[in-house]
Amino acid sequence: MKRALIHIDYTNDFVATDGALTCGEPGQLIEKAISNITHTFIANNDFVVFAIDLHKTSDPYHPESNLFPPHNIEKTKGRELFGKVREIYQENKHRDNIYWLDKTRYSAFAGTDLEIKLRERGITDIHLVGVCTDICVLHTAVDAYNKGFQLTVHRDGVASFNQAGHLWALDHFKYSLGAQII
Ligand code: ZN
Repeated sequence: MKRALIHIDYTNDFVATDGALTCGEPGQLIEKAISNITHTFIANNDFVVFAIDLHKTSDPYHPESNLFPPHNIEKTKGRELFGKVREIYQENKHRDNIYWLDKTRYSAFAGTDLEIKLRERGITDIHLVGVCTDICVLHTAVDAYNKGFQLTVHRDGVASFNQAGHLWALDHFKYSLGAQII
């Protein structure tokens, strides 16, 4: 069994108090757990993907333009990773097992080369951390399930601005996607 850790959207805009589309405190409270999990995967030489939302300032064709305020705009501080996670990425980004992935939809698989990167490495198990549990983590998990990957979701490594949605999604991962929740 080869595993990968996929980070979803742990950026200033989604986590910092003044972020454009922030989860706020629940997002900030998982910083330590995410950092520890990331260190463990990097040290073990597992594949670690930072799948990070990317938007243009104004994109009339993007469906999120009508749903959310502008967020994770290219080359802004809002799109930088939050807190310690940014430090970990900066320290390790030159390693072969670290991969930065620009995504433009909720799912890290939508319109990206993520599946190819995982398949060519023989990876069968995906571990998920990041935000928001019930939006981008959820859509990535659903795609991973449909593509036949085994899923593990780190309970202390995911968060949402919506606690009811967060708890619903954890149940969905477990009971509908067969994920391990650890
Ligand atoms: Zn977005």
